[in-house]
Amino acid sequence: MFGLIGHSTSFSVAKKRAEQLGYMEHAKGDLDTWCSTPPQLLETFTVQSRTGKEISGAYIDSCFLPEMLPSRFKTAARKVQNAMAYAQKQGFSITALGGFTSIIFENFDLARFQKVRSTLLEWKRFTTGNTHTAWIICRQVEENAPRLGIALEKARVAVVGATGDIGTAVCHWLQQRTGVQQLLLVARHRGRLEVLQQELGDGSQILPLEQAVPEADVVVWVASLPKTVELNTSNLRRPCLMVDGGYPKNLDTRLHGPDLHVLKGGIVEFWRDIGWHMMQIAEMERPNHQMFACFAEAMLLEFEGWHTNFSWGRNNISLAAMEQIGQASVRHGFQALGLRDLVTTPVLSAS
Ligand code: NDP
Repeated sequence: MFGLIGHSTSFSVAKKRAEQLGYMEHAKGDLDTWCSTPPQLLETFTVQSRTGKEISGAYIDSCFLPEMLPSRFKTAARKVQNAMAYAQKQGFSITALGGFTSIIFENFDLARFQKVRSTLLEWKRFTTGNTHTAWIICRQVEENAPRLGIALEKARVAVVGATGDIGTAVCHWLQQRTGVQQLLLVARHRGRLEVLQQELGDGSQILPLEQAVPEADVVVWVASLPKTVELNTSNLRRPCLMVDGGYPKNLDTRLHGPDLHVLKGGIVEFWRDIGWHMMQIAEMERPNHQMFACFAEAMLLEFEGWHTNFSWGRNNISLAAMEQIGQASVRHGFQALGLRDLVTTPVLSAS
């Protein structure tokens, strides 16, 4: 059996969900109520691969909320640990740490946080799911930019959150496998950006957000932002593809304009219906088919019997691992979410 650990995108969303699920104390409670709530197993379900193999899984809400950061970081971290200990006690072979859960965990000094009361966490039972997420985001760029007439070998691609676990993998892939013309690297800490730029060499440039976004034909958003960014759309290049892989979303979902296309990043569609409710809660367009790529990674590891912490720590994702999980993804019936209702445009020069 596999597990998925998730959380709500905000306090207000969490309260609404609690009301829908009949948890009235939490629907009416304040942040302190949520801080003291243990993890909740909300659902169990089965999933069938295109190969015919069937597996069982469970969804656990860690009851972590982005509003707990940064002032209640210890509480937030404890909630992640408690959810992990719970998953391990249930005997799940592999569990994905969704959304901010993995980010909090990546920041830990692992050895110090391995013990949760009487439980010693076994790292091999957990994955951040970031390798599959990075691969899916790259596929979303590769499949959708040409549909808008953007030739990637002549395109400038800004990566916001470039130095993060997913961002770094995306940069390396887009440079080495996709062959984009130029990468524009955006993050706050200059030192980490310089290290990444040295690794990438020619063909990458460090720019502040306000400068990078208007210069880019494609923008990949993979920054760990607790709130969405306000964007001035008047000075963007057209056509422009924005792939928003953040959770919570980095961009306002209502953002639109002529030749400006925003795609939900890091989301996959499964080949058949899954009889679960949790993705309705996550506001997916087709909740029985769509899910976060990190959750899909736990399913892939379970389908394949790769019971190992496939994605772990920060900036350890290799292109070979992305290829490996990508092949498994296709084999079992996952597909990257694409732009809908588009007539394919002939590829134009983006420079
Ligand atoms: P990391 O914490 O490893 O990286 C975050 C990156 O964002 C860093 O480069 C960080 O650099 C940058 N960043 C943070 N704040 C800002 C800011 N204000 N302006 C510019 N850059 C910023 O995160 P991950 O790579 O693990 O995850 C990235 C995103 O993807 C998250 O939103 C996460 O929730 C989401 N995600 C989605 C999944 C899915 O299945 N769809 C799965 C896993 C994650 P610096 O601190 O220097 O600014």
